[in-house]
Amino acid sequence: MESEESTAWSNLNSQITTCRLCPRLVAWRESVAVAKKKAYAGLPYWGKPVTGFGDIKARLLVVGLAPGAHGSNRTGRMFTGDSSGDFLYGALYRAGFASQPVSRDRQDGLDLKDVFITAVGRCAPPANKPTPGELQNCSPWLEKEIDLLPTVEGVIALGRIAFERLLRLYLNPNESLANYPFSHGAFFSLGSTKPWLLASYHPSRQNTQTGRLTALMFDSIWQKARAMLSGSE
Ligand code: SF4
Repeated sequence: MESEESTAWSNLNSQITTCRLCPRLVAWRESVAVAKKKAYAGLPYWGKPVTGFGDIKARLLVVGLAPGAHGSNRTGRMFTGDSSGDFLYGALYRAGFASQPVSRDRQDGLDLKDVFITAVGRCAPPANKPTPGELQNCSPWLEKEIDLLPTVEGVIALGRIAFERLLRLYLNPNESLANYPFSHGAFFSLGSTKPWLLASYHPSRQNTQTGRLTALMFDSIWQKARAMLSGSE
């Protein structure tokens, strides 16, 4: 028999994967899944919203932007099947949060330890740019995941957009975001009843191939997160 907890996750995930609230994104994610990239022409595409992935008892929550058109929109798992995922899971593996450095598809055996990965947007957006209205539509999914993750102590925001959406979610509505400037490695305590927040550049190809985000810079984020978790020296 399923536990109450796993039933709650199954219910939430089935609601997420059937969401059609944003017409522009529904059209885009589905058209990409039909047209496909040449390299994946013979493979099935997911073409639906992507749910969170990882350890549901995690102390660390990682929040990205949105699925890549030929990455998680193809494979159906967060940060899986593209260069952003390679960069992210490589770093998580080096820091001891992932069982392997590669993330190819939903059957590749990857297991996350103490980390749950999700995003502020669940559908692949054209040009990797969801609109503010689309992110607002999607916000309840993240909030519901957070409700099901009571052991989270800290949140890592991958990129400025995720960072600002998380601040809006955790701060009081009258508090100014200007008090929380985004930079790589910026760390904020949000109060005793909320998780801390650590900002990172997003591991997009645009950042990693230009050297804006190096493996060393990214490793420092996970080392800091590890050190901040309870029970760490
Ligand atoms: Fe639904 Fe979010 Fe996808 Fe919009 S982006 S259709 S709210 S899952």
